[in-house]
Amino acid sequence: MNLLNLGFSQFFEDNFGRYRGDNLRPLRIARQHKNLYIGLDETGEWQLDLAGRFRHEADNGGSFPTVGDWVAVAAREENHGTIKALLPRKSVFLRKEAGLRTAQQAVAANIDTIFIVNGLDGNHNLRRLERYLTLAYESGAAPVILLNKSDLCDDIEAVTSEVETLAIGVPVHPVSALSGDSLSPLAEYLTPGRTAAFIGSSGVGKSSLINRLLGEERMLVQEISEQDAARGRHTTTHRELILLPEGGMVIDTPGMRELQVWGDDDGLKQAFDDIEALASGCRFRDCAHKGEPGCAVQAAVETGALDADRLRSYHKLKKELRYLEAKQTQKASLVEKSRWKQISLLQRAHKKQGM
Ligand code: GDP
Ligand code: ZN
Repeated sequence: MNLLNLGFSQFFEDNFGRYRGDNLRPLRIARQHKNLYIGLDETGEWQLDLAGRFRHEADNGGSFPTVGDWVAVAAREENHGTIKALLPRKSVFLRKEAGLRTAQQAVAANIDTIFIVNGLDGNHNLRRLERYLTLAYESGAAPVILLNKSDLCDDIEAVTSEVETLAIGVPVHPVSALSGDSLSPLAEYLTPGRTAAFIGSSGVGKSSLINRLLGEERMLVQEISEQDAARGRHTTTHRELILLPEGGMVIDTPGMRELQVWGDDDGLKQAFDDIEALASGCRFRDCAHKGEPGCAVQAAVETGALDADRLRSYHKLKKELRYLEAKQTQKASLVEKSRWKQISLLQRAHKKQGM
């Protein structure tokens, strides 16, 4: 194991440069137990705590390290150290707390490829797929769509091309966790030093795919946790930054699992069902509750039945939702433009050859 295989690319090398003189070393966060972090470098696992100053800054609007992060560590004794700084992230998945507060919490960082898993077993959902794509774009990781359970689908091609038109420029691979062969397209995203993660609704086969990729390594994972247990460490059987036998890495954390497609209209409606109920009494069906005549929601604020702060928060979340949507549409049209450019260049090249 070396740092390159853990993903320490030029980007992190450059950002780490300023800490080298301070006798700090770069480590990658593999998991976290409350205040204790487990980091990895070429020597193996380290137990890390946070420097007081770092904690103070994180508490005051900074960011705490999360799984996948690179940190600058001061060694105390063998494989024990203190995290002094967090290196800038190439990508990050944030959990946005819905409701009144819109605080953000990093759940995983420095993921290169985000596999969006959808089932091919008859209940694939294109709207949900769009939301997951938005989430991926927001993070900075490159999305790849996996249509799992291809063994249960009679017309894989039809679904694949339907998905391709929706996710322009995004690779789409039909796979089956049941048959290992079909996973070969994933290898190109999981070369040494590269990190992937899986998102998608419960039951689409994320665990099955990860287990399949782990293959025989599963036993090794078991061995490591037994070793940890023997040393009396608090341990989970579940590795969060998982090193694959072929060299790539997968981040699988409860945080990633729980990642809701934030910004989902349904989510907003559920979170503000009182406002939705009031809205049915508005004069206009498309009332924005911003001063239109006959607005039942504004009326409820006037009588005190609805908290004005709550309505403000609703407006704010709705606006952010629109922003996310607009951003995705813009991205898609940019990708489409560059695709057309490529096609017209190809056509020109063909014409030239024909002459
Ligand atoms: P997760 O919730 O996304 O992690 O989904 P799981 O990996 O737990 O899989 C949910 C169910 O789907 C399990 O019963 C799996 O055995 C089944 N499953 C997963 N992948 C496939 C597949 O490729 N084909 C079929 N037929 N079943 C699968
Ligand atoms: Zn209204």
